[in-house]
Amino acid sequence: MNTVTDPQLLIARQRAVVAALRARLPAHCVLFNEEDTRPYECDGLPAYRQLPMVVALPEDEAQVVAILKTCRDLQVPIVPRGAGTGLSGGALPIVDGVVLSTAKLNKIVRIDAYSRTAVVQPGVRNLAISDAAGPLGLYYAPDPSSQIACSIGGNVAENSGGVHCLKYGLTVHNVLRVRMVTIDGDVVELGSEALDAPGLDLLAVFIGSEGMLGVVTEVTVKLVPKPQCARVIMASFDDVVKGGNAVANIIAAGIIPAGLEMMDKTSVRMVEPFVKAGYDIDAAAILLCESDGTTEEVEEEIGRMIAVLNHAGATAIAVSQSEAERLKFWSGRKNAFPAAGRISPDYYCMDGTIPRKHLAKVLLGIADMETRYGLRCANVFHAGDGNLHPLILFDANQEGEFHRAELFGAEILELCVEVGGTITGEHGVGIEKINSMCIQFSPEEREAFFGVKRAFDTAFLLNPDKAIPTLVRCAEYGKMHVKRGQLKFADLPRF
Ligand SMILES: Cc1cc2nc3c(=O)[nH]c(=O)nc-3n(C[C@H](O)[C@H](O)[C@H](O)COP(=O)(O)OP(=O)(O)OC[C@H]3O[C@@H](n4cnc5c(N)ncnc54)[C@H](O)[C@@H]3O)c2cc1C
Repeated sequence: MNTVTDPQLLIARQRAVVAALRARLPAHCVLFNEEDTRPYECDGLPAYRQLPMVVALPEDEAQVVAILKTCRDLQVPIVPRGAGTGLSGGALPIVDGVVLSTAKLNKIVRIDAYSRTAVVQPGVRNLAISDAAGPLGLYYAPDPSSQIACSIGGNVAENSGGVHCLKYGLTVHNVLRVRMVTIDGDVVELGSEALDAPGLDLLAVFIGSEGMLGVVTEVTVKLVPKPQCARVIMASFDDVVKGGNAVANIIAAGIIPAGLEMMDKTSVRMVEPFVKAGYDIDAAAILLCESDGTTEEVEEEIGRMIAVLNHAGATAIAVSQSEAERLKFWSGRKNAFPAAGRISPDYYCMDGTIPRKHLAKVLLGIADMETRYGLRCANVFHAGDGNLHPLILFDANQEGEFHRAELFGAEILELCVEVGGTITGEHGVGIEKINSMCIQFSPEEREAFFGVKRAFDTAFLLNPDKAIPTLVRCAEYGKMHVKRGQLKFADLPRF
């Protein structure tokens, strides 16, 4: 598919698409004036921006079907969009494409306390599910730090995680059923409200597919009982290596904490003046280790974790004595991203996953990169999952700094792969990490991904150019062997 960039052709195409969409949708559901479409030009990765040609805001599933059929007939690419909090540019618009926003599909269809499930539309915010289930003593466990804003449709598309996912699982472990619309306008249900569904496990294929296979219109999620009690340990270390080893030791001791997070000195010093969570600003690293369950279970687990932390060389340990103090300890971790904005004009949030045993090695590697790239990096992450979130601090107004930040980020991901990890833990590949996919996967593996994409979307209209790199891209990135000028699989789509 060739992208239309010529201004005159773009105007003509915009007119045709708006007319076709308005023939099927109310006029207020189709935006095309620049002042209306500008808010959709980027997601939570504002370094990449593109004004969309048209934005469609369906109010029900029938309108989603109409939009997809229209775009398929006119061969117009579509980018699905939830709340736009994604950090990898997954919802970045396409110059000659339509952004399909699920903002108006925001109803909680039902909450069933007996089956402990909630059925929700895709635009429902993550936290709104727990708020609605709260009076029944239930909540939705996956809790991205963006949960106040991000949508469940976006969570499904990114297979999002959060602090509680170490114990309760990622989105993929907490979604029973997804109803979605294909590019041809067919409504398909994946999974079921029963414990298992026969046939191929397309639900698992779909979760984490970054808007490339279909548009989510309804989700059934599992709810879990709210724990009777939760307490958190805050432990200081004078050395990141000791802190990293403590994380591995807790898991090796057979403990699965409800949360196990780590922050290095730069993050602690960045956050503490902002939130005043009581963090030890002299520590090289702090760990937050949460336990939840009955009062007796929590007391026993906290005791076992303290023993491991002391053995690993913790220099100070504090345990929350009340719910207010527990939330105060967490407030620093939860506010790390906004705090970064206070000390640096810009930051670039990376997301890689490594085997826990290599935490210390990778943190030392990142420290070395800070010197080489001349940029600071704050490390704050889901340590229990080995999911790193290095925040590279830079100033986009300084010539070349963003480029250096990008190279720094790419090198962190290469290190993650080198130690047996992956280039993303929960933020997805989007446009940001597409080159790094060339390092993680072989041409054969990437072709298998394209095979799945083609099975759902032959014409590559749904969120094209995201998540799976083409052969040409990998060759240009220097991560593909080109023999005598000949690419393998020369017949495959290039763009
Ligand atoms: C401050 C901050 C903290 C964050 N913390 C976390 C964290 O702890 N854990 C974590 O996992 N993420 C985190 N994120 C990233 C982000 O919030 C998640 O990726 C989230 O799932 C995105 O949801 P969204 O509704 O904003 O989706 P968007 O950003 O709008 O879209 C994300 C992707 O989903 C696709 N998509 C959206 N809706 C649909 C749909 N209905 N059908 C098909 N595809 C769709 C889009 O095409 C895009 O590829 C954080 C972001 C911020 C800004």
